[in-house]
Amino acid sequence: MKAAAYYGPRDVRVGEVAKPGLERGDVLLRVRACGICGSDLHTYRHGLFEDLGVPVEAGGRVMGHEFSGEVVEINGEAAGVKVGDRVCTVGMGGNAEYYRVPAMMSVALLPIPEGISFEEAATTEPLATSLHAVNLAAPADGETHVIIGAGIIGLGALQVLKATTSVRTIVVDISDRRLEVARQLGADVTVNAGREDPLQKIVELTGPEHMSFMPVMTGRADTVYDCAGLPLDYTGTPVLQQAITMTKENGKVVVVSIFEKPPELEINLLVRKGITLYGSWAWSFDEFRHALELIGSGKVDRKPLITHTFPLDRASEAYETQLKAEEAVKVLILP
Ligand SMILES: [Zn+2]
Repeated sequence: MKAAAYYGPRDVRVGEVAKPGLERGDVLLRVRACGICGSDLHTYRHGLFEDLGVPVEAGGRVMGHEFSGEVVEINGEAAGVKVGDRVCTVGMGGNAEYYRVPAMMSVALLPIPEGISFEEAATTEPLATSLHAVNLAAPADGETHVIIGAGIIGLGALQVLKATTSVRTIVVDISDRRLEVARQLGADVTVNAGREDPLQKIVELTGPEHMSFMPVMTGRADTVYDCAGLPLDYTGTPVLQQAITMTKENGKVVVVSIFEKPPELEINLLVRKGITLYGSWAWSFDEFRHALELIGSGKVDRKPLITHTFPLDRASEAYETQLKAEEAVKVLILP
């Protein structure tokens, strides 16, 4: 079968690899759509997390953990699954024509709701990641939540907030295209951080607060999500520092992004304000299921987030396109 494997930074190539064999109870999927994740990009760009993915004989690794497909073969039986089912699931190695679901993982095969495409279903995993971040924040009605970084995770957090709460949402990014999508998805306010100082703007929007012992005016957002992280080549005030400054006393900051280097932080502000800082990684399986339900019920529409699709043969181009934050939100490979 054909698969796209990662061999080193900026080096993804398509080649022939062995089609997976099935043991008793295993299920074979014909992969139909697989998203390129922000975490894949840290690998693709800089070689971080290189041990992710499924090794192939030629020395590379098949990445891709956001995928959907069709059941084409079952060795024996797998409870609740039959050949022809359209499913989405969790695992690694989706940048390939076929994917073997081990017998013990067949319980994690979720049927794709009627009317939902393979492409949309492939975005369930990142939506579950967004949902987990929002669940950590436990939003209450009437609050103001700020999302910094309007990539698939930030926009997904916006979608979850819009679908399940009535909080006021403010989205910050430097891409007009992404902010346009945020407005389309119902963001109450968008801020282009390339043109306005996001900190000043959020302080203005949430009501400035002067805190004793602290030299800066601070905002009063209830929760701020750092969906931007810290790229290696970033200079200036880390987004996380801005997030801490925007947040109200006893508010929450949820970090759902990867830092490619350690940030320099004025941590006294976090201490003085009594902020709760959450690290948000992945999701529980219940959250994964809930994410698919949100898509299936139509409460969350993922179509506006899918900006590009490429056949497997053009996987390298797909990765290069996902790097272009100004143009791309979610790039899918259709093996
Ligand atoms: Zn992912």
